[in-house]
Amino acid sequence: MTLVDYPGKVAAILFTGACDFRCPFCQNASLVLDPSSEPEIPEEEIFDYLKKRKGMLEGVVVTGGEPTVHSDLLEYMGRIKALGYSVKLDTNGYRPDVLKKAVNGGYADYVAMDIKNSLGKYAETAGVKNLFTPLIEESISFLKEGHVPYEFRTTVVHELHSDEDFEKIGKMCEGCDRFYLQTFSDKGDIIKKGLTAPSPEDMERYIKILRKYIRNVLLRDR
Ligand code: SF4
Repeated sequence: MTLVDYPGKVAAILFTGACDFRCPFCQNASLVLDPSSEPEIPEEEIFDYLKKRKGMLEGVVVTGGEPTVHSDLLEYMGRIKALGYSVKLDTNGYRPDVLKKAVNGGYADYVAMDIKNSLGKYAETAGVKNLFTPLIEESISFLKEGHVPYEFRTTVVHELHSDEDFEKIGKMCEGCDRFYLQTFSDKGDIIKKGLTAPSPEDMERYIKILRKYIRNVLLRDR
């Protein structure tokens, strides 16, 4: 259960295994690199849990890994919606086709999309060679059209982000509804060791830079 992952709602979080990115700062390394090592909760158990907690819980966050890599995602989200829950989809935005279907089909009530970095450093920050950044831009443009409430968010890592990156990110996401910055912290189950958090001064500066382009820029710390 979470009070912070779905803005304004008490929600359950469902983690899906596997991801098409390998962000070095990823906090769910086991889920991404070796999903079969994680306990799998039978669907029946999940839906029983959700049925019993109707009224206590308002929403369900479908997160990862990367949910959009699963071919049965929309059916799964549809079953959750059919129980009367609002559904939030967390995504890296690399599959705009699935994102559009989730939103246009009414499966997602809220979308949180990661903005890993400025486009020139996207491949490095996502840990994927030959990453095709137009797919990221397509997801950003689609969400900015406002078909559904959404947020963009960046986990800020000292070794990966700079003022220049946030100038570029601000321009790329200009006019968006909400942008959250999260300070990286190494909680152990991480893809690449040795990364560090930016200083509070760096974070303040990045927020100021983004506010030149985006009205609602907020710090979300866990
Ligand atoms: S942080 Fe990166 S590697 Fe980890 S789940 Fe998200 S997109 Fe995948």
